[in-house]
Amino acid sequence: MSHSTENLPVADPFVEESGLPVVGHWIDGTYHASRGGRTAPVYDPAIGKQTKEVALADEAEIEAAIASAARAFPGWAATSMTKRQAVVFRFRELLNERKHELAEIITSEHGKVVSDALGEVQRGLEVVELATGFPHILKGEYSENVSTGIDVYSTKQPLGVVGIISPFNFPAMVPMWFFPIAIAAGNTVVLKPSEKDPSASIWMAELWKEAGLPDGVFTVLQGDKVAVDGLLTHPEVQAISFVGSTPIAKYIYETAAKHGKRVQALGGAKNHMLVLPDADLDLVADQAINSGFGSAGERCMAISVVLAVEPVADELIEKITERIGKLRVGDGRREPDMGPLVTAQHRDKVASYIDIAADDGATVVVDGRGIEVEGADEGFWLGPTLLDNVPTTSRAYTEEIFGPVLSIVRVESYQEGVDLINSGAFGNGTAIFTNDGGAARRFQNEIQVGMIGINVPIPVPVAYYSFGGWKNSLFGDSKAYGIQGFDFFTRQKAITSRWLDPATHGGINLGFPKND
Ligand code: NAD
Repeated sequence: MSHSTENLPVADPFVEESGLPVVGHWIDGTYHASRGGRTAPVYDPAIGKQTKEVALADEAEIEAAIASAARAFPGWAATSMTKRQAVVFRFRELLNERKHELAEIITSEHGKVVSDALGEVQRGLEVVELATGFPHILKGEYSENVSTGIDVYSTKQPLGVVGIISPFNFPAMVPMWFFPIAIAAGNTVVLKPSEKDPSASIWMAELWKEAGLPDGVFTVLQGDKVAVDGLLTHPEVQAISFVGSTPIAKYIYETAAKHGKRVQALGGAKNHMLVLPDADLDLVADQAINSGFGSAGERCMAISVVLAVEPVADELIEKITERIGKLRVGDGRREPDMGPLVTAQHRDKVASYIDIAADDGATVVVDGRGIEVEGADEGFWLGPTLLDNVPTTSRAYTEEIFGPVLSIVRVESYQEGVDLINSGAFGNGTAIFTNDGGAARRFQNEIQVGMIGINVPIPVPVAYYSFGGWKNSLFGDSKAYGIQGFDFFTRQKAITSRWLDPATHGGINLGFPKND
């Protein structure tokens, strides 16, 4: 198995003024080097240095990308299911063989630990595997003789060009929530990845080409708001799948809908873990650590608030604190427990919430600021941080922090915990920890959240169940992947058919058709 990334077309051989390589676009089945336009910096977060630039698409590049996808659509939509399935299968095989390469690319720009990056690829692979079974899922319905001599049936057809706009925290998995299904269903895709970690998408585009996907079916358009707005407003683009922060998700939903597009926009989160007094506190402490600090808290399904139903808080804090003391923070390539944050700016923003919480009266039990990592002074570090007694009026409680900061909020009862969760603005994920089956069952029924874990802290559904939250965590009617994913990327037709013959013809009748 090769771990080399040397031969991958992840950077422009022509360097910009900075002397750094520039990550370009993938249009018409070809890598497109930057044309000397606007760029944004790409960092290696563990060494804290800019290592590349990424091209930011201009109007001409946006037009070229969408036009190429539009040209490719009729041919791909008309390609037989058997042939489309063979390409998706081949993509699955290649990805499985070479997933380590992709994981290393993710770590070099995002910072997460390589094994965690591999986990992300594996979860994306699950959706590719689901997509290989698309002929079964896209079967229509058929009803014979609904009226005398009349049959009704339905088919599902692809939409055309679809746009995917993805966040920095899962540069491979989140695009794979959408594009395997969109492509299998016969659409052509323009992916606009996060400008913070743009190389994974180019690597995946190369892999599609190797798998035999025709040019133009999968396009990567690097960029910022200009590229996003191009996708949201272009008449050729039929649908938008977005994942990112809530304010941008709202903007995407409104703008794409205003331009007549189908849209699913997944937003931010503030996920609570409700710990009942009967729970096994060692298990809870382990899971709170895993879900709070895995990927440095940069997961939309991370647990950021533990609601401890008294009297467990003191004991639980002791157990969590002890475990934090053993966590190793460092360069993700060396397999520590936790890597750096994605940029210095993001690290500083996350750290500012520790001040906010303290100013509002919270106790900083473990302070991750000022952590030192040997031999990597410049990395974007923030150690695991534990806050106690966080007031629910504090911005540290009401806003998404998206970093390794775990807040404890003490509550007196199950009901107080449930009321807090249900009064929040977000509804992405939540978990209950208890050995009481009745309480867990009540929780799953009463809680106003899209994805629920029962003694499972990060309940990301498998590929054949759809992923998505409620309230400010999802704008639009469709969740990602699963059957809802196939519904999102297809439109249905209902056909009413009669083959005229004298026995069923019925003659002239101007009344509204009724079935008899
Ligand atoms: P972000 O909202 O900053 O960026 C997401 C995408 O939108 C990127 O491609 C970015 O280039 C683009 N974008 C940014 N600003 C824009 C603007 N003003 N106009 C148009 N486009 C713009 O999010 P992020 O920081 O990359 O990712 C972290 C966020 O994503 C967190 O809020 C996290 O909860 C959320 N997220 C949610 C899920 C989910 O399934 N609900 C999954 C992963 C991440």
